[in-house]
Amino acid sequence: MPSSTTELIKSKLDVVEVLKGYITLHPAGKNLKALCPFHGEKTPSFIVSPERQTWHCFGCNSGGDIFTFVMKYENLEFADALRLLAEKAGVELRHENPAEYRYSGLLYDLNESAKDFFRKAFAAAPVARDYLKGRGLAEETIAEFEIGWAPNEPEALTMALLNGNRAAPQDLVQAGLSIKTERGLMLDRFRGRIMFPIHNHLGKVVGFTGRILPQLDRGDMGKYINSPETPIFQKSKLLYGFWKSKEGIRESKAAVLVEGQMDYLMSWQSGVRNVIASSGTALTAEHLRAVHRLAEELVLSFDNDTAGSDAAERAIDLGEANDFTVKIATIDVPGAKDAADAVKADPESMKRAIVHAIPAPEFYFKKYLPAASAGSAELTAQLRSREGLQRLRAVLAKLRRIASPVERESWMKELSRRTGIPENTLEEEAARSAAQEGSPFAAQGAQGEADGDAAAPRRAATRRERLGEGLLAIAAARNDFGILDGCEEYLAPAVNDALAVLRKGERRSNDAALDALLDAILLRDTSELADISQSEIAAFRSDLAHEYYKERRQVLTLAIRNAEAKGDDAELRAALDELRSLPTE
Ligand SMILES: [Zn+2]
Repeated sequence: MPSSTTELIKSKLDVVEVLKGYITLHPAGKNLKALCPFHGEKTPSFIVSPERQTWHCFGCNSGGDIFTFVMKYENLEFADALRLLAEKAGVELRHENPAEYRYSGLLYDLNESAKDFFRKAFAAAPVARDYLKGRGLAEETIAEFEIGWAPNEPEALTMALLNGNRAAPQDLVQAGLSIKTERGLMLDRFRGRIMFPIHNHLGKVVGFTGRILPQLDRGDMGKYINSPETPIFQKSKLLYGFWKSKEGIRESKAAVLVEGQMDYLMSWQSGVRNVIASSGTALTAEHLRAVHRLAEELVLSFDNDTAGSDAAERAIDLGEANDFTVKIATIDVPGAKDAADAVKADPESMKRAIVHAIPAPEFYFKKYLPAASAGSAELTAQLRSREGLQRLRAVLAKLRRIASPVERESWMKELSRRTGIPENTLEEEAARSAAQEGSPFAAQGAQGEADGDAAAPRRAATRRERLGEGLLAIAAARNDFGILDGCEEYLAPAVNDALAVLRKGERRSNDAALDALLDAILLRDTSELADISQSEIAAFRSDLAHEYYKERRQVLTLAIRNAEAKGDDAELRAALDELRSLPTE
C-alpha cells in the first residue's frame, strides 16, 4: 500500500544503509552483492541497486524495497515494518495514518499496559514469587522477561484499563485481555495465573501465556492459556524468546528449540543464549523461516516422554524440510522430565546436552531399531520379524528424506553396519517400499498425513534449477537468448526444454508442467531484470556451471560406490574417468 508516508520514509532511508544493518554487502560495479539471507547459498546471488533503491535475489527470486526486505527479514506485517522504518527515518506516524495502523498501535498499548499491571500485581503477590522461586527462576530472570501475576479476581485488569479511559470494552476483547459473557459482563481472561508476556521479534509485548497457580488449579481450566490470535499476535509466526536470543543464534549459527516458557527461561538462565521456544502452538514452517535467516543448525530438546519424542520427530521432519541440520539433545539428569527440571537440578545440564546432541538419523536409529547390539544374530532375528521389518522401513523412510545424496549414502552405510544387513539389500528394501507408496514425494505426503503432520516436506527446487530459471527470465526480459549460449549442458532438463520453446519465439508448449514453468519464468517482474550488467550475467553463468559440476560429482560418487558393490569394473572405470575429468573447485 504505497502512501505519502512510505514515500517519505524511502526518501530518507537509503536501501544500502538499511540492508547493511542486516547483511554484509560487497561492491559489484554500480550495484552491491551479498549472500542471500532468504535461502542458503555459498556464492552471492543477492543484488542491491542503489540507483533503483531495490534488491533482488536471483537464487530464490525474491526482491523489493526496504519495506519488503524488513518484513521478510524481521518476519513483520507491513504495519510493523512501517513503524520500525519510520522510527529509523525519524518520521512521525501518529497523526496521518490509516485507521488500521492506529488500531494495531492501540493493541500494542493495551498489551503494554496489561504487562505493567501484571508486573505491579506480581510485586504484591508473594504467592506468585514463591511459585517461580520453587521452579528455580532467579529474580533477574523474572525481571528481564517481565513476568507478572494476574490476580485471582473477576475483573481486576479490565477495570484498571477501562478506568484509565484509554480503551473501550470491545478494544479489550479485541486485544484478548478481556472476555464478554453471554449476559454482556466483562471479565478478565487471565485470573490467578503467572503471566509470561510474549514479545514480538522487536521486543514489543503482543500477548501472554498464563500458567495457573497450582493451588488454584481445580482442573477445569487449562494449566496454560494463551492470548487469542489478534492482528498483532500471530502464533504461527512468533517464537517465545526470539527477541532476546536473536544475537546468540546469529553468533552460534544454531538455535536450541525447547517446548515451553519454563524450559526457555531456565535454559537462558543457565547461560544458553541461543534458545527459543514454541509455546502454546505446534511448530510451523514460518517459525523456522525466521530462524533460518540466522542459523543453519537446529538443536531440539523436547520432553523425555512419548509425547516429547513424537513432537521431536515432527520437528525433525519440519526442520529438515526447511533445510536445517537437525540434532537432538537429550537431558541426562535422572528423573528430570524436561529442560526446566534438569537445569534446576543441575545448571550445567542443558549446555552439556547441547554439546552431546546427536544427528537426527542417529535419533531414529535409537527410536526405531531394536536395542540388541549391532550386527548380532539376535538383532538380525528381531529385524526379520514382521514388527522388526516395519521398524526398519520407518528408518529407511526417514533416511529417504535427507536431501543430500552423499549424506544419505553415509547414513545408509551406518544403518548397514548397525543392522548387519548389506547396503544393497537396504537400498532394495527402500526402493520397494517407496514404489509401493507411489512416488517418493507422494509417499511423504501420505505418510505425513497419517502422522497427523500437516507440514510434510516437499521437494524444493535445487539451486541449479533456480539459477537456470533466473537466467532464462533475464534472457526473456532482454529478449536476448544469446546470454545462455553454451549453458545448455548445465541447465536442468526442464529449464532446457523451456529455453528451446522460448528460442522458437513461442510461449506455450503442449505440456502442462512445462507451461507452468514457462509461466513462472515469463511472469517475473521484468523491470528489475532488464538492466543487469554483463558481468553479473557472467557471474550467474559461472555459478550455474559450478552447481552442475557439484551435482555431477555427487551422482558419480554414488555410481562409483554402487559399481564397487556390484563388482562392475567397466562401470567403475567410466565413473572414475568422468569424475577425474570434471573441473576441481
Ligand atoms: Zn535468495
